[in-house]
Amino acid sequence: MGWKDIWITMTINSLNYGTIDDLIQEWKGVVNKIGFQFHTPFVKGDPLWLPFGQERNKVVDKLIALREEYPGFVINSKKQLALMKGNWGGIGTTPVQCPSWAILSFDHMGREKKPCCIGSADSKSLKPICEDCGLGCYSVLVANGITR
Ligand code: SF4
Repeated sequence: MGWKDIWITMTINSLNYGTIDDLIQEWKGVVNKIGFQFHTPFVKGDPLWLPFGQERNKVVDKLIALREEYPGFVINSKKQLALMKGNWGGIGTTPVQCPSWAILSFDHMGREKKPCCIGSADSKSLKPICEDCGLGCYSVLVANGITR
């Protein structure tokens, strides 16, 4: 990545996972980088979550193939994408492998969000489910050997 890079991120969920090719065709030549991550649920049974299993594995394999097809365009590494086939983050809503400490995130009041950037400073708020997490900004750290 450099200062001239203009990039977009697609958060893949159970409704939009069939549109990856269309998105690439639409944005290739408009931006020079694209990143992928998966929707992280806050409740079990969230219909937007693409469950671990065959369908999700096929999507991950497709993304890995797209890296080869569009070298330098897809920013995720193969290792990071492969993590998305299963639980790389934690247990329940507790980060275990995820190095949530590595990125400090604050809300509009300047309060630290926990356990990570999609969490909240309000301890009573719903928490993201670490064991079903698909976030890119933390999984890239895990893929590079930075864990808890
Ligand atoms: S990024 Fe957030 S939700 Fe995902 S595993 Fe880490 S702390 Fe949990």
